[in-house]
Amino acid sequence: MTATTGTTTVSAYAAPSAKAPLERTTVPRRPVGASDVLIDIKYAGICHSDIHQARDGWGEGIFPMVPGHEIAGVVTEVGPAVTRFAVGDRVGVGCMVDSCRECVNCEAGLEQYCLEGNVGTYNALDRNGEPTYGGYSTHIVVDEAFTVRIPDGLALDVAAPLLCAGITTYSPLAHWNAGPGKKVAVVGLGGLGHMAVKIAHAMGAEVTVLSQSLRKKDDGLKLGADHYYATSDESTFEQLRASFDLIVSTVSAPLPLDKYLGLLRTDGAMVNVGAPEEPVSLNLFSVIAGRKTLAGSGIGGIQETQEMLDFCAEHGLGAEIELIDADRINEAYERVLASDVRYRFVIDASTI
Ligand code: NAP
Ligand code: ZN
Ligand code: ZN
Repeated sequence: MTATTGTTTVSAYAAPSAKAPLERTTVPRRPVGASDVLIDIKYAGICHSDIHQARDGWGEGIFPMVPGHEIAGVVTEVGPAVTRFAVGDRVGVGCMVDSCRECVNCEAGLEQYCLEGNVGTYNALDRNGEPTYGGYSTHIVVDEAFTVRIPDGLALDVAAPLLCAGITTYSPLAHWNAGPGKKVAVVGLGGLGHMAVKIAHAMGAEVTVLSQSLRKKDDGLKLGADHYYATSDESTFEQLRASFDLIVSTVSAPLPLDKYLGLLRTDGAMVNVGAPEEPVSLNLFSVIAGRKTLAGSGIGGIQETQEMLDFCAEHGLGAEIELIDADRINEAYERVLASDVRYRFVIDASTI
């Protein structure tokens, strides 16, 4: 880390342009402001959203792009107005680093749905118009209001993925009341999916995994699933017709929604957290028959993220990770795209 007039230059891995492989570079970090903390990043998870964005699959990407919104590290400096954190604290940063803080959603702790748009941890412009750079980096400066505490019971490496995969699944599971007596299906056993299984199980729900094949069945059951089915087997859709109160889809590609909606009970809900690059089609009779809900959900608010971390610590839930050096990021991307991830790649930031 080198400093000039308060702005520091830090090492990072960036995609120089859309679809280009990520390479080592440096990026600026702003001076530590009054309410900012400087975080020495220890670990950064690789989310499928990083891949969508680094390859410009969602459009309007800002390059060079330093992805990474599953950040775990240690506070090394605090601004004079910081009240909640001290040097040495173990902290996390997720998908957003700011919001308007005034709109009805920000007031309600739903900063992710800020009416002015939240400021993404990367691939965004901050409120001064400067590009944000994410967690594939050695340090980051973040306002304390968008920093959360990692409880002592959670190791930083397995905690990092909770900052996106954890909160993105916890939030809809909590909102749709996953718990005892509820049958919950999780579609896709990847980074988000495996956390959905752990969290739904810890909430007391009966959990079914719907995966493309049975090749990860043993893992799924160990993670806390009660049942495991292959969606490549057409009989699965017959067998499980009208079974679930809640389906959480974590699938990164378009799904045949009508088929999955057939698996819901009357008044059941299917919530999509997966964010495919292409639109999907829907026959509205799939929701009319049975008064079903088709919904989406985006990450979670800051207070809810803290609640999720505390819940995970209390239940001993971290992510299942494969720790990699930064020079293996591009290879990890290919494996995620091939659904060959068990179940989250995490970058050791000391190798950046
Ligand atoms: P991931 O680790 O790649 O997991 C996705 C899983 O979906 C795969 O492991 C695979 O599971 C299944 N899958 C992949 N392609 C499929 C296909 N063509 N048909 C059926 N199933 C398929 O990705 P992730 O990091 O969990 O992210 C999942 C999605 O959520 C991404 O689109 C990501 O951008 C999005 N996301 C959204 C939010 C939000 O706030 N809503 C937050 C984070 C991520 P099986 O091998 O078990 O079938
Ligand atoms: Zn993510
Ligand atoms: Zn707002």
